[in-house]
Amino acid sequence: MMNKVNLIGLSKEELREHLQNLGEPAFRAKQIWQWVYYYGKTDFNEMTNLSIALREKLSGYFELSRPKIIDEQISSDRTHKWLLEFADGERVEMVYIPEEDRGAVCISTQVGCAMGCKFCHTGSQKLTRNLTAGEIVSQFMVARDVYHEWNLKEQARMLSNIVVMGMGEPFCNYDNLLQAIKIISDGEGIALSKRRITVSTSGIIPHIKDFDNECGARLAVSLHASNNELRSEIMPINKKYPFDELLKACRSYQDNHGGYITFEYLMLHNLNDTPAHADELTAVMKKYRINAKFNLIAFNPWPGCGFEASSNNRIHAFSLKLQKAGFAAPIRTARGQDILAACGQLKSKKNTQ
Ligand code: SAH
Ligand code: SF4
Repeated sequence: MMNKVNLIGLSKEELREHLQNLGEPAFRAKQIWQWVYYYGKTDFNEMTNLSIALREKLSGYFELSRPKIIDEQISSDRTHKWLLEFADGERVEMVYIPEEDRGAVCISTQVGCAMGCKFCHTGSQKLTRNLTAGEIVSQFMVARDVYHEWNLKEQARMLSNIVVMGMGEPFCNYDNLLQAIKIISDGEGIALSKRRITVSTSGIIPHIKDFDNECGARLAVSLHASNNELRSEIMPINKKYPFDELLKACRSYQDNHGGYITFEYLMLHNLNDTPAHADELTAVMKKYRINAKFNLIAFNPWPGCGFEASSNNRIHAFSLKLQKAGFAAPIRTARGQDILAACGQLKSKKNTQ
């Protein structure tokens, strides 16, 4: 028997081509796209403007698969974490972080991660494989299923944003990431605006250059250090894409894009959180004339990590110093910590350290 084609993850053009092979006219692509991505249907039989014969033909040709929910937990602060499993048995975690009347779904792009950042739980789980575009998109589709958010106006959505900050380095799976964002932001389907999608990278320089032109979603850069040596110590990728080169790439991005650059800065006790580090950070941003916004992230410990979180006093002092130098420096408190759902705590293999 022929393997079925997974419809989720095809671009509109690809869908059109497949339908053409089935002898169907181009406008069918739009109808089917709406059923799948606007109404969230998982069964061709529910696509009532298609003939029964066509529905049968489509069911025999395509699948509309979603990852399976293997486990889920809801934190005392309402943060919701799911363990998802794909067709081949590989797993990722997804998190929904609710706020008052909106919230962000944190999705993954890889099973594991090859960057090996010392402070990151995901980084301690080696890279198994990239996710396909369909697997990236379908994570968000599962969240919509759970929260019954298909066919809703933008203002009514609780799942209002996506942050690509789950497992993996998104720019090491660049093509699939871009295809997924194109599908998610398509106005005839899921219709989540690119302004509501933020991609976080550990600093894969070549793609920072392309991302603005080719994608248009928001960018966040994980900096976490105020100088080259320190960054190499905690983020091995810095040896390949060094601190100063990264900042130069951010500066060109800023020149091209306008506005400011969002940096994530993890607060690690005595390692990168002293007044001297704040001064160093300020100086280097001034040197490269970067309009930086620093999201100061409280470190979320995980079993066996070997790092300590900075005290609240330290974090506030650090923030104040950056603000005095003219930079926005909001403090991001941890969410979902009790269920290991916070930044850098995601890990889908239960049996490894
Ligand atoms: N790989 C990408 C995106 C996923 S990580 C990246 O590194 O940017 C999302 C964010 O969580 C990054 O800023 C990452 O540095 C941060 N993070 C990693 N481990 C963490 C931890 N233990 N506590 C808090 N944040 C962490
Ligand atoms: Fe990978 Fe990001 Fe974790 Fe680093 S912080 S290991 S890049 S997921």
